[in-house]
Parts: sequence; structure tokens; C-alpha cells
Amino acid sequence: MVGGGVIGLTTAVVLAERGRRVRVLTRDPVERTTSAVAGALWWPYAIEPVASARRWALRSLDVYEELADSPEVTGVRMVEGVLGEADLDGARAWVGDRVPGLRAATVEEYAGQGVWARLPLIDMSTHLPWLRRRFLAAGGVIETRSVSALAEVDAPVVVNCTGLGARDLVPDATVRPVRGQLVVVENPGVNTWLVSTDAAGEMAYFFPQPGRLVLGGTADEDAWSPAPDPAVAEAIVARCAALRPEIAGARVLGHLVGLRPARDAVRLEREPLPGGRVSVHNYGHGGAGVTVAWGCAEEAARLVHGAASS
Ligand SMILES: Cc1cc2nc3c(=O)[nH]c(=O)nc-3n(C[C@H](O)[C@H](O)[C@H](O)COP(=O)(O)OP(=O)(O)OC[C@H]3O[C@@H](n4cnc5c(N)ncnc54)[C@H](O)[C@@H]3O)c2cc1C
Repeated sequence: MVGGGVIGLTTAVVLAERGRRVRVLTRDPVERTTSAVAGALWWPYAIEPVASARRWALRSLDVYEELADSPEVTGVRMVEGVLGEADLDGARAWVGDRVPGLRAATVEEYAGQGVWARLPLIDMSTHLPWLRRRFLAAGGVIETRSVSALAEVDAPVVVNCTGLGARDLVPDATVRPVRGQLVVVENPGVNTWLVSTDAAGEMAYFFPQPGRLVLGGTADEDAWSPAPDPAVAEAIVARCAALRPEIAGARVLGHLVGLRPARDAVRLEREPLPGGRVSVHNYGHGGAGVTVAWGCAEEAARLVHGAASS
């Protein structure tokens, strides 16, 4: 396998627990991946192909709900909050009856139209190391090294979970960065999350995580800079403070930037490699990789199984 972010590690866990011998080759330790930057709220954000994404997301919801039984260990909690600019019918079209208690937000909860929901909120600083431990406990091996061609990997099936790295590795120029910047502050007493878009189309969201409040956000297409922009950070705090005034004075703990691996559609398919070998691609999850990780991992595992038995 190549790639050890949330997609790679989740896929590696599923494969290793099904008895496959799995070695993950990763350029970066998981703490330095895009996945480590994610907020991360489970919600079926619009990624393509829509019908598959919905299925992957709902399967992942099953798993996250179970993992939320041990939040300190897995980093997954069920937390209430508001999806702003959403209507109940639209939300129900996504999730059917899989999110109990879904309802329109009251005016006290949100000034505009919104939906109140209890959803998985994933603390990636706990979840990713937990995934790594679970993979290692299932007999997996992780090697930190860069791969320059899938064909160079010495394995009958090579699973490609390289996110934005697929752009050079495959190569696939249709994978492009959508840059996201976050501000991490001391939590001034906020215990629900909120996702909102203002009249100018700017996003604002806050996620209460253990020991901190994560403020977002931005989505800049084809922007590559890994450096936090102080003016952008200031604007993020201002947008969030407009929704929750106590955020204005919160002490800033840090700044984060991540490049979402966006693609017209997630690539989850098999492709032949030279020498009768096979690659299984699982990349291009944009802003929804955490949301769909388990569903995609299981589908990738089915493709690996098909490849290994054909
Ligand atoms: C600010 C922000 C907020 C987000 N919030 C959410 C959210 O609330 N909910 C949600 O579902 N999603 C969210 N996302 C999206 C989510 O983070 C991504 O979809 C997800 O992390 C993609 O995971 P990945 O494993 O494909 O990629 P990555 O985490 O980037 O991992 C790629 C892996 O491949 C490795 N790699 C790449 N190239 C090579 C190579 N040539 N050789 C060896 N290894 C290589 C890297 O080292 C890394 O291990 C957010 C993203 C950002 C930036």
C-alpha cells in the first residue's frame, strides 16, 4: 500500500483484519498528513460520484457510531450542532432516517435556516494514532518512504491511497489542491459545533475538540501554500465571532493549513500494472475523506480480494 493518511490507514486496517499481509509505504508520518488537519465532522459533503459517496458515508457512519462508545481511545464522539443554510428535506435526502433527532434548528440555535443534528466529530490527533495502533496490532507494517512509481512497489496488489500525491505518482493531473486554513483557540465554553456560509459565500465553522476549539475555514482551489496567512486567520476568527461573540477574545493556540485532495470524482477502481500485477486506487476524496473513509476502505478491500483471486 502507498499512503498513510486517513484513507490509507483505514484501508490498511480493513485489509489486515481480513488476514492480508499489508505493508504501508508513506512519505509522511500520519501527524504530517492532510488528514491530521481535518476538523473533522462526519457529513455527506457533496463529492462525486454522489450515490457512491452517500453509500460510503453511511457505512462510515455505522463504524463511527460504534467507535464513539470509546471516545478517549478512538477520538470519535457524537456531538450536537447546526448545519447552517441547510433545510431539513435536503438533509433527510442525504441521510434518510440514519441520523435520529435530525430537525430544523430553532432561531435561538441559529439565526438563518439550519438543521440541528447529532453527528460524529472526530479528533484526528487521537483517531489517526489509534488507527495506526489498530493496524500494527493486526500485523501490519509501516515504512516511512517516498514512492516514485506504483510499479516500483514489490507486491502483487498495490493499493494507492496517496491523496494529492497521486497527482505525481499515477500521474493524475485531475487531482488538485483545495487549500484549507484553520485557527485553533482555547475553548471559551462552546460545546456544540456550527457550520455556516455567510452572504458573501465565505465559510465559517467551529468544532469543539478536547482541550481546544477549531475554527474554520477556507477552500481555495489550486492554492498550494502550506503557510498560514495571518490576514486569513484574522478573518476566520472574525467570521466565527460573528456567530459566537465569546470566540472573539479566545487565546489563539495555533494555525493549521491542509491541502484537500480534490478530484472531479473519487477514484476507487482497479488498474493493471506491468507484470500481471494490479493496483487499486483509492484517492481524490476532497473535503470528505474522513466522512467516507470506512465505506471506501471496504470497497477497496473488495477490489483487492477480486484482484488477488482473479
Ligand atoms: C482544513 C480541512 C478541514 C477538513 N475537514 C474535514 C471534515 O470535517 N470532514 C471530512 O470528512 N473531511 C475533512 N477534510 C478532508 C480530509 O482531510 C481529506 O479528505 C482526507 O484527509 C484525505 O485523506 P487521504 O488519506 O486521501 O490524504 P492524506 O491525508 O493527504 O494522505 C496521503 C498519504 O499519502 C502519502 N503519500 C503521498 N504521495 C506519496 C508518495 N509518492 N510516496 C509515498 N507516500 C505518499 C502521504 O505521505 C500521506 O501519508 C478536511 C480537510 C482540510 C484541509
